[in-house]
Amino acid sequence: MKIDLHSHTHYSDGHLSPKELIDRAHNMQVDVLAITDHDTVDGIQEAMDYQSEQKRSMQIMPGVEISTAWHNFDIHILGLNVDHNDAQFLARLDQQSKERDRRAQQMSDKLAKVGIENVFEQAKILAGKGQITRAHFARVLVERRVVKDFDAVFKKYLGKGKKAHVKPQWIEMAEAITWIQDAGGKAVLAHPGHYDMTTKWLKRLVEEFANAGGNGMEVIHSHLTPERKKLLADIAAEHNLQASSGSDFHYPNRWTELGKNLSLPVQLVPIWHDWSLVG
Ligand code: AMP
Ligand code: MN
Ligand code: MN
Ligand code: MN
Repeated sequence: MKIDLHSHTHYSDGHLSPKELIDRAHNMQVDVLAITDHDTVDGIQEAMDYQSEQKRSMQIMPGVEISTAWHNFDIHILGLNVDHNDAQFLARLDQQSKERDRRAQQMSDKLAKVGIENVFEQAKILAGKGQITRAHFARVLVERRVVKDFDAVFKKYLGKGKKAHVKPQWIEMAEAITWIQDAGGKAVLAHPGHYDMTTKWLKRLVEEFANAGGNGMEVIHSHLTPERKKLLADIAAEHNLQASSGSDFHYPNRWTELGKNLSLPVQLVPIWHDWSLVG
């Protein structure tokens, strides 16, 4: 079974519509695909409706990726198998969405101070009805040739401590876990190998996440060396966290693909072990 539990659509910073994402996953022979946009479940119903029209065996799992603040880090928590119609959950996610707009406006003000005008307006058009993210800002700055690529935007303007960085006021990790579980889902620590932190901090992060009631962590995600994979598997086992894996697909490129190289280490309990999956 090919199970990919982390992907984005244009309801946040993914480039594909739910329909395009699903068609691509189907072509890649994915059996289960979780759609996990940043701080929103707005694309889920469209995805489910399209999928049921297609009569394909692939299963779509409703998900979300919630931004949280932990010490000085932005930590992402996936909510898997959430009820995307839960009114309380939708109202809670709306708070995050408002914070996205507030932060975006402030980042734009900071950019204007260094002579780069009206980025908010342009980024908002790119984001459309989706959540506005730093990735949209990055696209605008690259399009305007202010910098040469995405990486350079984060290094010069949008990364922590850089010229146009605005500290986001995300909810705390424990709160995100509660939101997800109240909506019937499982909370999974996203891409723990991606945070720019020492192993000591990483271990502290996982410990606090587990103590706060988190269910699982991604032990397989992109850009991991075999040593890092082993480290993540060991830390997950130590805290009895279930294991998840996902491509974090945003758009077609040469580094990431839906459903590729996602098998979990055999000694870990998969996050889907008590869900009935198709396939
Ligand atoms: P936000 O949630 O608005 O802070 O935006 C974060 C998003 O920007 C992430 O989900 C990534 O898709 C993207 N991103 C963050 N850092 C980088 C980076 N250094 N290079 C490229 N994309 C990045
Ligand atoms: Mn993203
Ligand atoms: Mn993330
Ligand atoms: Mn993601």
